[in-house]
Amino acid sequence: MTEKLSSNPDTQRQMQAVEENLLRIRETIRKAAEASGRKEEDIRLLAATKTVPAEVINHAVSLGVTYIGENKVQELCAKYDALDTDHCHVHFIGHLQTNKVRQVVDKVEMIQSVDSLKLAKEISKACLARQKTMDVLIEVNIGREENKSGVLPEGLIQLLEEVSTLPAISVRGLMAIPPASGKITETREYFSDMYKSFLDIRARKLDNVTMEFLSLGMSADYAEAIAQGANLVRIGSALFGERVYPSKET
Ligand SMILES: *Cc1c(COP(=O)(O)O)cnc(C)c1O
Repeated sequence: MTEKLSSNPDTQRQMQAVEENLLRIRETIRKAAEASGRKEEDIRLLAATKTVPAEVINHAVSLGVTYIGENKVQELCAKYDALDTDHCHVHFIGHLQTNKVRQVVDKVEMIQSVDSLKLAKEISKACLARQKTMDVLIEVNIGREENKSGVLPEGLIQLLEEVSTLPAISVRGLMAIPPASGKITETREYFSDMYKSFLDIRARKLDNVTMEFLSLGMSADYAEAIAQGANLVRIGSALFGERVYPSKET
């Protein structure tokens, strides 16, 4: 494997850190998977790549990270051509406005953040025109938080039934971001509620709905998410280091 060295020293340092971080994360995933009766390979690690330069993302991909997730359309578009998309699955994981759907459907394999029929219809329409089908996860606002994306838990089944009738969408699972309470016992309850929904929906055997992906857990709580049944974890800062948002020019 050939390594291109970045000219930017910050980027270079970040690339070195990613390698160590990845080993630690894999070890944590392996232990959590085994403790819940599964194998490391049963858990998908998705690198949440907001603010991370494409060359650092590609470095993570060269180390074996096979799923990456962007959460802003503008950032996805800016980085997309520089990403090594032949060697990873690109997911969209952030809030998506209907007027930006067309920019996303050509670039990603899965949209994890579908939370309304309106958005789902727009995705289906755009994909139908391109003769493709989009895999999606339904995002649940499990903590019923105001100003947070996701369908409320009591609206989940109805939304699934409606979305499942759309021609160019395939529902593959559920995603959630529980409230940032800081209390792991509370977070655990939310994860476990999501796992119950996941099993309940799977048992209903809805047309065009399969429950393969349960996307729960981020840097602070992914071990707990796996313990409660998650099989896809979205990890940003634990892999890439604390995010540095570009500061506004003064
Ligand atoms: C940023 C982000 C993550 C990762 O967050 P960390 O706490 O840095 O691991 C996961 N999921 C979504 C939707 C995100 O936007």
